[in-house]
Amino acid sequence: MDLPSAWQPYRCSDEVKAIPFCPFCRSGYGPESTRILEWGGNDAGDLLHIRCGNCLNSVIARVQSSSAGVSSVGLVTDLDYAEVGRFSKAPPISTDDVLDIHSLLQDDRLLFSQLAVT
Ligand SMILES: [Zn+2]
Repeated sequence: MDLPSAWQPYRCSDEVKAIPFCPFCRSGYGPESTRILEWGGNDAGDLLHIRCGNCLNSVIARVQSSSAGVSSVGLVTDLDYAEVGRFSKAPPISTDDVLDIHSLLQDDRLLFSQLAVT
């Protein structure tokens, strides 16, 4: 995912109202809290990163407008705006990756030897 190179406020007030406040502290979101991760248009909807100016928690949300109204699906995240773009380019985590980490955590000597390599 290539993020927009410069910050720009999300100007579509109808979509911002779809997620009107922070789920943690209930503070209202404004356009300055919302950054665009991906323009999707009316078919896919827009992908937004919204950071609360009060408690600094964040939500990633897909917001879609149609003739039936505005809908949104949000996911609480600890990723900041730039991290979302970076991790979206990372390869998926496989079952083998999880098993490798599990094995690594069972053996302190192997764990520390692997940490020394990276
Ligand atoms: Zn908040």
